[in-house]
Amino acid sequence: MPDDIAVPARNIPLAYDTDVVVVGAGPGGFAAALQAARMGARVILVERFDMPGGVHTSGLQGAAGPGVGGIHTELMERFAADGYIYTATETSLPNWAGNPLSHYDKYLKPDATFRRSSFNPEGAGSVMASMLQDAGVLALYGTSFVDTIVEPGVGNDSISAIIVENASGRQAIAGKIFIEGSGTAHLAASAGVPFLRGGGGQPETADWDGIHRPIPGGLLWIMSGIDFSKTVAHQKSANDPMLSKLIAEAHAAGDIPPGLYRPRMNGNNIYGEHYIGHPTLDMSPMQADGSFILWQNVPYEWALHMDDRAEDEARAKRALRGFIDAEAKFLKKYVPGFEKAVLTNIGRFVGIRDGRHPVGEHVFCLEDVLAGRRFADAVTKPMTKPFFWGSNRKHEFDVPFRCFLPKKINNLILTGASLSFTYDTIFMVMRNFPWCTQTGEIAGYAAAQCIRKGITAKELEWTTPYF
Ligand SMILES: Cc1cc2nc3c(=O)[nH]c(=O)nc-3n(C[C@H](O)[C@H](O)[C@H](O)COP(=O)(O)OP(=O)(O)OC[C@H]3O[C@@H](n4cnc5c(N)ncnc54)[C@H](O)[C@@H]3O)c2cc1C
Repeated sequence: MPDDIAVPARNIPLAYDTDVVVVGAGPGGFAAALQAARMGARVILVERFDMPGGVHTSGLQGAAGPGVGGIHTELMERFAADGYIYTATETSLPNWAGNPLSHYDKYLKPDATFRRSSFNPEGAGSVMASMLQDAGVLALYGTSFVDTIVEPGVGNDSISAIIVENASGRQAIAGKIFIEGSGTAHLAASAGVPFLRGGGGQPETADWDGIHRPIPGGLLWIMSGIDFSKTVAHQKSANDPMLSKLIAEAHAAGDIPPGLYRPRMNGNNIYGEHYIGHPTLDMSPMQADGSFILWQNVPYEWALHMDDRAEDEARAKRALRGFIDAEAKFLKKYVPGFEKAVLTNIGRFVGIRDGRHPVGEHVFCLEDVLAGRRFADAVTKPMTKPFFWGSNRKHEFDVPFRCFLPKKINNLILTGASLSFTYDTIFMVMRNFPWCTQTGEIAGYAAAQCIRKGITAKELEWTTPYF
């Protein structure tokens, strides 16, 4: 068998020629498309699934919080007005705070007051779709970005069109400004932007065999009809806070496959604690009373690169669906409170936490944070956040617009998880829904400015914080 085959050259239809082309409708791409359209640009948004929202809708990760301004605040208000925000408190969910089964709230003191809000992913996706529609964005759902046409230039190159595939077959979409919203820098990499692969140089990764592993991706799912008070009664009466006794019983009976409830591996700080193994049920309030989101992570040991290896992606999908099936059966059979529960939803894709990290005109790194560096092209007023791998203390810092501008390409703007950031600044800190939405709004504003002025993104002078 030859190593490769030649594909005959052929023409494909140029289906659209527009101002701004956005690839991916996660929080970054969604907000970018919306903002650019609201400022008068003609915008086409390409999304492989059937709604916007990315990991937070199609992937079921619907954590909601107070608005941080702009489109994010608008979203929170729209979701609430449409009845798509659910909030659990110590009154509706006693014994949740400090419970070791809670993904987010296990660190709270038992009986602490809490508010844990989430948005209904399906409802939220519909709201976001109608906002795009109202703004005049042409959102092509069921359309996958597959390739890029790059025109060589002096110094930098420019993207002239992207190739997509959908029910019409292969089509080209030409544009003036392109926006990266794929969550894994797929567009940027295809255009030749240099990038670091996920798993490079992370702490705790090369300890025992020298292999650098990406922070594992994950598949989220929802189970409804859970009587959590009965689960709590079991935890207390059987002195089984992490369900270890029930898990051991199911293991002994052959009801738990290898890989499910695998032990955590050694790890420092946040990374090892949360993402390297799932020794117990991992859940969070979601959607409604008795309806919880549950988490399955890719086994870290497998070192899967789902963004650029089809075999890895397929393996993750097969394995995680298998784990979910086994976990749902285990819960119903063994765990009090789950007798009448039903598996209601599995995310449309295994989310990638640590994909490609494109290299931009500035690479935002921990030193920027720790040194409290200020930048003349800051996109927001100074932000204050703790950085777990830095010092775990709060730091005040700026993010420069140059992190939105990838090297090598003149007319491409980055957003969300595809910004020019090191993995340790994105992961756990600069990857949440509010910030990714803000980055999209900033990118959409920049794109519309470029269209108005007839310039490329690299020529745009950024002098005033947007937020
Ligand atoms: C399993 C998981 C759990 C997470 N949990 C948390 C959490 O608890 N708290 C937190 O703050 N952050 C969390 N994150 C991180 C957060 O979800 C991401 O940082 C954020 O969603 C990134 O936004 P984005 O817009 O860049 O991309 P994404 O949300 O990844 O959206 C990308 C969109 O692009 C589309 N797309 C990709 N490739 C193509 C293509 N070729 N053609 C067409 N469309 C394409 C996808 O379908 C998707 O809709 C989690 C991430 C994962 C994967």
